[in-house]
Amino acid sequence: MNFSSIRLVAFDLDGTLWLGDALLPGALQSVQSLSARYRIAYHTNNSTRSDAEVADKLRRLGVVADPEAVHTSTTATARHLVEEGLSGICVIGSSGLRRTLENHGLRLVDDASASHVVVGMDVEIDYHRITMALQVLLKGGLFIACNADANFPVEGGHRLPGCGAMVGAIQGAVGRGPDRLIGKPSPCILAQIAAQHGLRPEEILVVGDSLESDIAMARAFGSPAVLFGAVAGDASEAGVVRVADHAGLLAWIEGEIGVGWR
Ligand SMILES: [Mg+2]
Repeated sequence: MNFSSIRLVAFDLDGTLWLGDALLPGALQSVQSLSARYRIAYHTNNSTRSDAEVADKLRRLGVVADPEAVHTSTTATARHLVEEGLSGICVIGSSGLRRTLENHGLRLVDDASASHVVVGMDVEIDYHRITMALQVLLKGGLFIACNADANFPVEGGHRLPGCGAMVGAIQGAVGRGPDRLIGKPSPCILAQIAAQHGLRPEEILVVGDSLESDIAMARAFGSPAVLFGAVAGDASEAGVVRVADHAGLLAWIEGEIGVGWR
């Protein structure tokens, strides 16, 4: 990997920097060491919290982070809607998603007269809301998914249903998948990070624990990537750099750019 061109390290959050409400061992050391040399950004498919709320959580856990460094699928969705001039949105999602869309000046419509449907993580989704989304999509609205993650890790080795379960409910009703996918593995979030910093794809190193989302996003955008942690699935394919933990990440970077960089 040509490390000399790297200007920014883009960390995934769930499963890479933290699990539930605890930082992973060595995560703070990783961020502190790398931030002395590189700009740092954080990306997450989380569609329930705003960037500011995620930055608050990072700070609570001891990681100094500005909201501008945080890139959620929530905010990426709002920015995409604004860029595309899409409004009159029916939301399947959390109050955090609704608030983020409204803060970007988007008009939300809570009935079948809406123009488009945005689907995020929604722990209260029910038949009534699926019906509303179906009516909007049947009259030609766009089906926009914050992400399509099947499930996500929490403490204790458990996993919980992700946004993909909500997307699947709407998909099952309307008989087609999303027209737009904003979160990983779509390159949308990485493109927004690159635009914010004025960087080219090869100047961003993506670190994440999912081959299917983090590494796929990096590839779609043309950025180098590191697969973090013990993951299920085949990570043995050519071109995937893999590190076991944060100590391994720092050791690998040291090997790439030379001892004494810290
Ligand atoms: Mg992850």
